[in-house]
Amino acid sequence: FAKESDQLIAIYNERLEEIIRTEADILRRMKEAIGNGTLEVWYQPIMLLEEGRYRAAEALVRLPDGKGGYFSAGQVISLAERNGIVEELGDYVLTKACAFMKEQGDRLGVQRIGINLSVQQLLLDNSAGHLLELIRSTGVDLNRITLEITESILIQSIDRASKTLEKLRQAGAHIALDDFGVGYSSLNYLSNLPVDIIKIDRSLTQQILTQPKQYKLLKTIVDMASINGLVVVAEGVETEAEQKAIAASGLQYIQGYYYARPMSDEKLMQSLQD
Ligand code: C2E
Ligand code: CA
Ligand code: CA
Ligand code: CA
Repeated sequence: FAKESDQLIAIYNERLEEIIRTEADILRRMKEAIGNGTLEVWYQPIMLLEEGRYRAAEALVRLPDGKGGYFSAGQVISLAERNGIVEELGDYVLTKACAFMKEQGDRLGVQRIGINLSVQQLLLDNSAGHLLELIRSTGVDLNRITLEITESILIQSIDRASKTLEKLRQAGAHIALDDFGVGYSSLNYLSNLPVDIIKIDRSLTQQILTQPKQYKLLKTIVDMASINGLVVVAEGVETEAEQKAIAASGLQYIQGYYYARPMSDEKLMQSLQD
């Protein structure tokens, strides 16, 4: 028995070391890519249903893995957050996405660009001032920028976060509540939050066809949002059947593989300009 557990511990340690090595590798590549400008920002178009056109896009970070592929954005962000470099990474993505919007937005017919914010970016001293300065430095109009923050972050630090978000909104930016419909959601507080847009999480979107209750929840969210003057985006729409059900719910915007995957700026320009 003792032998067996020794063996297990050895395997466990090996795995742990491997994880630590991989993380160190990602972190090293991340710092390097931020420094030399090879960290990429990709864009996923968002369809405005009533026009049948892409009117918005979300910026998503892409770190090359050195083998022709990319590390998962989720892993990259969580590592950046745990190692105190998410502010630097966030500034990089924000600047790049705003500059892209300024240069290409009109030509591509994209009216708004969504940029994700991490909790650390939101809770710094003078967060709003810093973010506004960066956005303005690119020359882009603030009303073409949407800042996306997850529902869990907003709710956990509602007082501080609200002040920052209010300043950003007053300057013209829109705020989107990301990953809505998982766990934290309460429809009651929707009217009191400093947000303009709700993004329905993929985990809810993917249940609407199989679970009637979840479709009802989606419809309720759409109705509540409309009463409160909020715009709703459904994320993670992958099939025509999902697209149809969602269109029938009265929801305005769809983001998902059904229409388009995230793509590099070059690809986006190729696929959108007519
Ligand atoms: P998110 O903000 O919820 O972004 C949407 C994610 O869903 C993206 O994953 C996108 O590629 C994926 N997605 C979109 N449509 C579909 C679909 O139809 N099916 C499926 N299966 N997935 C779909 P991605 O790019 O891997 O990003 C993962 C998360 O990493 C993001 O989730 C966001 O939380 C975070 N993230 C990405 N870029 C940044 C960034 O620049 N800053 C910060 N703070 N977080 C970021
Ligand atoms: Ca997002
Ligand atoms: Ca999301
Ligand atoms: Ca998500």
